[in-house]
Formats: sequence, C-alpha cells, structure tokens
Amino acid sequence: ASEASDYDVVFIGGGVAGYVGAIKAGQEGLKTACIEKRGSLGGTCLNVGCIPSKSLLNNSHLYHQILHDTKKRGIDVGDVKLNLTQMMKAKDESVSGLTKGVEFLFKKNKVDYIKGTGSFKDEHTVKVNLLDGGETEIRGKNIVIATGSETTPFPGLEIDEKKVITSTGAIALQEVPKRMVVIGGGIIGLEMASVWSRLGAQVTVVEFLGQIGGPGMDAEIAKQAQKILGKQGIKFKTNTKVTKGDASGDAVKIEVEAAKGGKNETLEAEVVLVAIGRRPYTDGLGVENVGVEMDERKRVVIDQEYRTNVPHIRCIGDVTFGPMLAHKAEEEAVAAVEYIKKGFGHVNYGAIPSVMYTHPEVAWVGQNEAELKAAGVKYRVGTFPFTANSRAKTNLDTEGLVKFLSDAETDRILGVHIIGPNAGEMIAEATLALEYGASSEDVARTCHAHPTLAEAFKEAAMSTYSQAIHF
Ligand code: FAD
Ligand code: NAD
Repeated sequence: ASEASDYDVVFIGGGVAGYVGAIKAGQEGLKTACIEKRGSLGGTCLNVGCIPSKSLLNNSHLYHQILHDTKKRGIDVGDVKLNLTQMMKAKDESVSGLTKGVEFLFKKNKVDYIKGTGSFKDEHTVKVNLLDGGETEIRGKNIVIATGSETTPFPGLEIDEKKVITSTGAIALQEVPKRMVVIGGGIIGLEMASVWSRLGAQVTVVEFLGQIGGPGMDAEIAKQAQKILGKQGIKFKTNTKVTKGDASGDAVKIEVEAAKGGKNETLEAEVVLVAIGRRPYTDGLGVENVGVEMDERKRVVIDQEYRTNVPHIRCIGDVTFGPMLAHKAEEEAVAAVEYIKKGFGHVNYGAIPSVMYTHPEVAWVGQNEAELKAAGVKYRVGTFPFTANSRAKTNLDTEGLVKFLSDAETDRILGVHIIGPNAGEMIAEATLALEYGASSEDVARTCHAHPTLAEAFKEAAMSTYSQAIHF
C-alpha cells in the first residue's frame, strides 16, 4: 500500500457509528472525512430508526392516554381527534433538527462531509459517486467501514412500503390501517405494533418463537410484556411461523402455521409489517476489491481493535458483530478512533443496555435467567413490583416490576431486567452498577430519593440479598 493520503481517517457511512467516529477523530486532531450517500447524516437511527419511532411512540402514547386514561385522573376531555399529518410533521421536525445538528457538529470539529456512495478502489483509495453527479476519489491512511444494516426481507413478499412495509414504511403511513399484521415479535415489531394499535389499527403480531421481545429479553419479563400489550389490544400469535404471503389483492394474505401441530390459518390485513431482523449492509462498497473478510452472515470480520484482515481498514456498528444498537455503535466509534490515535480503547460488551420503548417500557442489561442457567451460574433473584412503589401509585401507572439477578455467592450483579414506567431511564443506573462491579447490596445501601420510581430499583436490589421494606 502507498504512503500518501489526503486524510488520516475516512469513514464510509454517516450513521451513528460513522458520524460519532468522525466527530471524535476531528476532536483528536485527525484530518477526517465522512462519506454518506443518504443525503443526510445520522444513518438509520436518526433518519428512519430510533428517532422517528420514538417521536411516534411518545405522541401515540399521549393520544391513547388522552382517549382512555383521563377520567379517573379527574380530567374530562372533549372531542379528541387524531391529526396524523401533524403527528408525522412533528416527527419529521425532530428528525431534521437532529440531522442538521450533526452537520453543524461536523463543521465545528472540521470533519469533511462528502455526499455520495463510497466504494473501495484499492486499500487506501475510496471512489465516491457524488450525489450531485460526478465522482471523486479520496485517500485515507485509515478507513473505517460504518455502512450499517438493512431490513431482512421475507421471501416471496415484495416490499412496496405501502401494503407490505418495513419499519421505514411503518414510520410514514399516511392513514391508520384497519388491520395490520406484524411478522416478527422483536423490538421493531412491538414498538410499531404499539404505535398503530394506539392510533386505532387492529394489530396481530406473529412470532415464530414461544416468547416475544427478540433475543436477550428475560422470559419472565417477556411474558409480562405480552400480557400487558395484549390488554392494550394487540393480538399475539406466538409459536407461529409465517410460511407465505400474497400481496396481489386489496388485502395482503398471510399464511401462518403453528409450530406444534402444524395448524394452518390465513390472516388478512391492509398492511403487513416485515420485522424479522436486520442484516449487515455492504452493497456497492467494493470490499471484494480489497479482500476484506466477511463471515457466513455477511458481517465484516474484525479483531478486538476493530481491524479487519486489512489492518488499516477498521469496521464498527451494525455491519459487524454484536447487538444492532445505536449506543453500541457509538461506543465502538469512540474506541476505534482511540485505537487509531492512541493504540488503546475500550467497550464493555457485557454492559450494553437494551430498551424497548413501549408503554410500559422494557429495559435490561447483563444476563437473563436462561443465559445464567445455560452457563451453570448459581444466582439469586430479587424482584419488586411497581404496584408497591409510591410514585407509580401516584402516577396511576403501576404495571411491571424490577428484577435483579446476582451471584449466589458474591452478590455481584449479573443482570437487571425491568418492565415498567421509565424503565429505559432507570436501566442507566443498573448499567453503571454492572460496569463498576457492584453488588446488589451496594445498590440497596445507596440512598434513593423519595418518591421516585427508582426506589423500586433499590428495593428489588434489597430483596436479592435481604428483604424489601415495602413489599
Ligand atoms: P446505520 O445507522 O445504518 O448507518 C449507516 C449509514 O451508511 C447509512 O446512512 C447509509 O446510507 C450509509 N452507507 C451505506 N453504504 C454506504 C456507502 N457505500 N457509501 C456511503 N454511505 C453508505 N437502536 C437503538 O439503540 N435504540 C433505538 O431506539 C433504536 N430504534 C430503532 C428503530 C428502528 C425502526 C430501526 C430500524 C432501528 C433502530 N435502532 C435502534 C437500531 C439503530 O438504528 C442502529 O443500531 C444504528 O443506526 C446503527 O448505526 P450504524 O452507523 O452502524 O448504521
Ligand atoms: P429482532 O431480531 O429483534 O426480532 C425479530 C423477531 O422475528 C424474532 O423474535 C424472531 O423470532 C422473529 N421471526 C423471524 N422470522 C420469523 C417468521 N418467519 N415468522 C414469525 N416470526 C419470525 O429484529 P427486529 O425487531 O427486526 O429489529 C432489528 C434490529 O433493530 C434489532 O437488532 C434491534 O435491536 C434493533 N432495534 C432496536 C430498537 C431499540 O433499541 N428500541 C428498536 C428497533 C430496532
């Protein structure tokens, strides 16, 4: 490989992995470029993922609450109407504010933003097909692949983002469908099922496994989530496989088969959401031109320093191993730049929280019971229900529980699983405790303000090695 280069580091992809890495590199004084083909920064997360979905989750929750949950609070409301166009506009404004914010941060940190599709020409050169037409070539001493992921398609069901949709269509529907079938009861399936069910659609979620929530969710919590979301009106068909779909008529027909007994059924819906997972995305990147190795699932293979088999080409985010989460991508971005600049970096893959932003929220960090059993670890369980928490009671929002799993001998926290109001904020405390190697007693002996939901967290910790006071 040649020595000369225009940039110290070039990021291909301006999603959370690429844009965070580029900002960090700029802050470290490295001459940095970031190539993004979408026409806006922030990737899946800011444009069509985390951010727009949370806007719709928040506002559909408010709408649903105003419709169904005000009387007992002493609030009589009049005519409540959905203005879906305005709800979508509010979402779009959140998105554009944040993506423009990233552009500002690029300028502030002297990152060159190159709008176009990047493709490896050789080990140090990336050819860019510019969005405005024409092409250019840029060279990097270091190159970081951060091209993200895309929806895994369902064979035989062509996505048109109108009748057969991915999450991208699900955050942009122009009217509330009468019926919606969701294929896959993972996080995307359940968040989007919540939005459209709250807005008035009859939603049926078909999940292949016996439990909803996707990989990682503790079975006891998943069962609670299914019960609570079921009460909100979402129908579930677990242990059920979608075998084929037909979108040729007015309504989409979905054939499903029970995992046990093989009973068949046909479901019909105006809109079908395909949410069976996401897969790494490297189309058009030209990795074959540089011989970057990929595994059987098309993930770019890396070592602990995020290096591919071509050492100055690193890779971070959804396109490589690990959970497909924005905050995981962000941690990797910072660590990869630190490796480039200083030779060391750090991500603790044992302490990456997961949050499902339904109501109530579900959040967890560390290991779940099934994982501990499989590993033969002896553990203790401490739980505390929100029904016994004073703040949840005053908020009339008492569904759910906090569950601690700690080592039977040392009391060190191994995992925390929460379903309940504000679980997604509360999990930060659990993550910090796990990161610091805390015991459940360490948490229980830390003073928590009263009345807060976090007291349920403290009392669950207390019940792991002793007894909760309020339950
Ligand atoms: P991406 O965000 O996919 O970014 C990759 C970027 O690279 C894209 O913008 C793409 O256009 C660009 N690109 C690809 N190839 C090229 C090329 N050759 N040249 C130039 N540019 C290229 N995660 C959470 O943590 N919390 C959430 O609440 C959450 N909600 C989600 C909701 C939905 C509906 C979806 C779909 C995902 C959600 N995620 C969430 C996951 C999160 O969006 C991803 O983990 C995150 O975006 C990964 O970041 P990334 O930078 O690796 O990839
Ligand atoms: P997932 O892997 O979480 O869930 C997919 C589900 O579909 C699984 O439960 C699987 O058993 C089921 N499934 C697969 N094939 C099926 C079939 N033929 N019939 C019925 N069910 C089937 O994937 P996802 O929900 O699509 O999410 C993709 C990624 O995006 C995940 O990595 C997720 O972490 C990330 N994401 C995160 C958030 C968040 O953090 N709040 C939100 C949305 C997406």
